[in-house]
Amino acid sequence: MALNLEEYQCEFCGKTCTNIVYAAFVCDSDECIEKARLARGGPGGHMKRKAEGQPIIPIDLEPAIEENRKL
Ligand SMILES: [Zn+2]
Repeated sequence: MALNLEEYQCEFCGKTCTNIVYAAFVCDSDECIEKARLARGGPGGHMKRKAEGQPIIPIDLEPAIEENRKL
């Protein structure tokens, strides 16, 4: 991938981008990485679940989906 990260800025603090996490340009700051995680996933966000290796469909919705299949 010919992507020069130094040409980009951190989406959160504006410093030189050194990382891409959760499809966001960020610097090395843990704070910015955490912001990227929250921005992309958010509480209960499916991308966050995917990143954590969990099912994308929230477990508490599965019974409702099962009900729909029966109809
Ligand atoms: Zn930053």
